[in-house]
Amino acid sequence: MPQTVTLGDKSFRIYITESQIAEAIGQIAAKINEDYKGKCPIIVPVLNGSFMFASDLVKLLSCDCEISFIKASSYKGTESTGQLTTLIGINQDISGRDIIILEDIIDTGHTLAKILPSFKDLKPASVRLCTLLFKPKALKTDIQIDYVGIEIANEFIVGYGLDYNGLGRNLKEIYQVI
Ligand code: 5GP
Ligand code: MG
Repeated sequence: MPQTVTLGDKSFRIYITESQIAEAIGQIAAKINEDYKGKCPIIVPVLNGSFMFASDLVKLLSCDCEISFIKASSYKGTESTGQLTTLIGINQDISGRDIIILEDIIDTGHTLAKILPSFKDLKPASVRLCTLLFKPKALKTDIQIDYVGIEIANEFIVGYGLDYNGLGRNLKEIYQVI
């Protein structure tokens, strides 16, 4: 694996390896399998960043599940703008259903804080939050996160679904800005 990558005008160094990502996802899947035994949750990944995480996680789920993607964006370059610029909503009846929202990363928490009320209005039986990566020092909202893969420092990262101005989503590992 490359030790550094260059995407546009920035360079990044290796931060989390493929095997560390796989181990974190295995631990999340084990917890979800325990908590949702005999149930059929709807997994709701937030596009674009969580597509790779969603794909690897659902392969490890032993309960029945459905998958329905939504889209939201609050990032420009390396800064969270705090404003949601796009939102493709859920297009099925979720009343009485168990929902697990999947994020690639929770930074300020603004994205989820804005998405959550619109879910609760649709009267699901439960809503839980699951994120592969979490920056505890960046959190600015009081959302409760039910499943966390890896806690990281407050640094901009790319790879494994996460981009820098559209680039880097295809990297197998996660890289940190230098
Ligand atoms: P929040 O609303 O919690 O501030 O940010 C949520 C979204 O911002 C994430 O789903 C992700 O798409 C993007 N984001 C947050 N931190 C990073 C980061 O370090 N790198 C990249 N590429 N995207 C990030
Ligand atoms: Mg995201």
